Amino acid sequence: MNAVDLIIKKRDGFELSREEIEFFVAGFTRGEIPDYQAAAWAMAVLLRGMTDRETTDLTLAMANSGSTLDLSKVVKIALDKHSTGGVGDKTTLVVEPLVAACGVPVGKMSGRGLGFSGGTLDKLESIPGYRTNLSRDEFITQLKEIGLVLTGQSPDLAPADGKFYALRDVTGTVQSMPLIASSVMSKKIAGGAQAIVLDVKIGSGAFMKTLEEGRSLANLMVSIGRLSGRKVVALLSDMNQPLGSAVGNALELKEAIDTLHGQGPEDFRAHCLDVAGEMMLLGGRVTSTEEGVDFAKRALADGSAWEKFRMLVGRQGGDVSFIDQAEKLPQAPIVQTVRWEKAGYVRWLDARVVGETSVLMGAGRVKKEDRIDHSVGILVHKKVSDLMQPGDTVFTLHAASKDSASEAETRLREAVSLQDTPCQPLPLFYDRIE
Ligand code: URA
Repeated sequence: MNAVDLIIKKRDGFELSREEIEFFVAGFTRGEIPDYQAAAWAMAVLLRGMTDRETTDLTLAMANSGSTLDLSKVVKIALDKHSTGGVGDKTTLVVEPLVAACGVPVGKMSGRGLGFSGGTLDKLESIPGYRTNLSRDEFITQLKEIGLVLTGQSPDLAPADGKFYALRDVTGTVQSMPLIASSVMSKKIAGGAQAIVLDVKIGSGAFMKTLEEGRSLANLMVSIGRLSGRKVVALLSDMNQPLGSAVGNALELKEAIDTLHGQGPEDFRAHCLDVAGEMMLLGGRVTSTEEGVDFAKRALADGSAWEKFRMLVGRQGGDVSFIDQAEKLPQAPIVQTVRWEKAGYVRWLDARVVGETSVLMGAGRVKKEDRIDHSVGILVHKKVSDLMQPGDTVFTLHAASKDSASEAETRLREAVSLQDTPCQPLPLFYDRIE
């Protein structure tokens, strides 16, 4: 067996056996198969697809590419959540402390930005000192002691996914159903999750563009979960327009802080409450999502979710003064508004264009080794169906330079379209799959 033959086999549309998939994943993990062959293989998978059997084998091969975590003696039920990636999706920053504040421990290994979608770790690293590289022992001790951990994927857990993830980000191979499903599920399985809430994003700012694609991805992940003995619930949520207002690392962190203080954009807050309700249901804390949502609302109102987040930041080495006084977070030198001169109802506000623009401004990576600028990003002030008056501000740009701001403005002018008659707001969720 060799890597070239497996690239050619997939390129020509044939099904790979379990042994072949295991060979490729093991070779890539050990560094025997170089990045350029792995990238070619990933592209072949993207173009040719995989059967459900191949995807399950790929998931298990990646989950077993390193060590695995057993949390069964640490918490009653090891609960996790995962979003398939979107624009302005800072849900984890709010939902995890919220659920932990309601008495359900959550330890999560998050990822970095991928393509036009942001990553929780990049957002958290806006806080000076915040450690995203906890060791396995630190993870377990912290989960036991404060019931909340938000760290990076430990390099020894599903290392194949860690390597693939970074490679796919910069080789145009993110948008593949089998690669996304296996990436998400392999790290959840390796990380010891027994119950998982999947937030499957659908729309222009997501990797799945249509409800059908989203449903297929959700079904695939739910069935991989079932085959590996995990409880999985998938929520299908909208990502045609950005979630909340902020897009960009420190800006999103600030919005999460506002939300934990009971403020923040209405759509984002409602989304977080629903995801938290699902998590509490799956974690056995409540008997219905509605009850979970009520618990979560109380944890926002009484400040306990915020206190939990503060505790998390302090415990992981972050300078708490930066979240207590969010104006200390990285600030971009140029802050500029983008106004519209026409009146009309917002028919479309393209999350994809907003996400790509924020990456070009420096909030995400174009090459694997790129450094993120935590200060830059975009505030989006309108939602689909809003009525706009001439002169209304649609975006506020936080840019590193005047040139970057004017390039962003040109791109963002293409992101919005208006119509003369009223239109319906977009839903937050489309469906729920168990
Ligand atoms: N999230 C992941 O963890 N992996 C992907 O491939 C896409 C989104």
